[in-house]
Amino acid sequence: MRRVYNFSAGPAALPEPVLRQAADEMLDWHGSGMSVMEMSHRGKHFTAIAEEAETLLRELLAVPANYKLLFMQGGAIAENAIVPMNMLRGHASADYVDTGEWSRRSMAEARRYGRVNVVASNAEGGSVAIPARSSWQLDPDAAYVHICSNETIGGVQYHAFPEVGEVPLVVDMSSDILSRPIDVSRFGLIYAGAQKNIGPAGLTIIIVREDLLGGAMPCTPTAFDYQVVAEHGSMYNTPPTYAIYIAGLVFNWIKARGGLTAMAEHNRTKAALLYDFLDSTGFYASPIERDCRSWMNVPFRLHDSALDAAFLKGADERGLVQLKGHRIVGGMRASIYNAMPIEGVQALVAYMKEFEAAHG
Ligand code: PMP
Repeated sequence: MRRVYNFSAGPAALPEPVLRQAADEMLDWHGSGMSVMEMSHRGKHFTAIAEEAETLLRELLAVPANYKLLFMQGGAIAENAIVPMNMLRGHASADYVDTGEWSRRSMAEARRYGRVNVVASNAEGGSVAIPARSSWQLDPDAAYVHICSNETIGGVQYHAFPEVGEVPLVVDMSSDILSRPIDVSRFGLIYAGAQKNIGPAGLTIIIVREDLLGGAMPCTPTAFDYQVVAEHGSMYNTPPTYAIYIAGLVFNWIKARGGLTAMAEHNRTKAALLYDFLDSTGFYASPIERDCRSWMNVPFRLHDSALDAAFLKGADERGLVQLKGHRIVGGMRASIYNAMPIEGVQALVAYMKEFEAAHG
């Protein structure tokens, strides 16, 4: 068996101890005689698994009691529609901040359900910085303000969340949830697909303030009405059971490693190692402004893009995989979520130095 350092943006690397435990429990979960995949979602075994996952996630994120935690399906792209359907609540419009590709995908979908007011955008600047809060033209009558906490493609991340007054702040946290402590009470709603920091694709996490429930548009599919999902304890329809089980194992792994404070330190250290190296050479460069560089997704370029293919081939040969940048931005991208060990980033930097010495 050969495990590689997998820099994929998602689905992404999972902690090896989690995969090993899942393998050990594959055929017979805790003496049940069944795989978790084979269990009824309403049976006692799976109920215990789901309850533990919810308890752990609430504990890790310190979710206040007046917030519901939902396990749903459909991923963040489905949420781009489900959010306005549930959250417009009779308002004519919502405010969206454009910090990159994923913000734009959210806005495009929301326009099918209401008016989208783009309150700030970094599109003109090449999406390498977050527009200053002072430049945002917020509407006090907006249903909510939508942001993307970490632009997985662009590599731009909020390192402090904006004040938006009384209007609920809604965040797509798909690619940085659980990477650092957050104050959940600052948000009206948090949504995140699981396949970066949480577990397998197929599970979507929703954390929503209770008073915002109950106003879904009549056209909302019942399975996507947050209030219905909340009333049924995320079991209105069959939830993605195996993904919830793996997520629970990941939550336990995070807790055992010291929770989100320790994760933040781990992620800050890895990101600093890579950005410090990028800043120290003329051979590679990070296009992102320093104060909003992502700790999770690090896009970088070689000074000569003609070397890209050779760089990727050499990386692959050394077990450093999935480093090709997103087609929209080109170049390279190293995604270094929670499960990426420091040794993976050290190996990447060592290879980058070696490649520079050979081609510089
Ligand atoms: N938002 C962000 C920030 C993402 O990174 C992604 C996936 N890369 C999505 C939305 C879309 O996720 P999905 O394809 O699972 O719906």
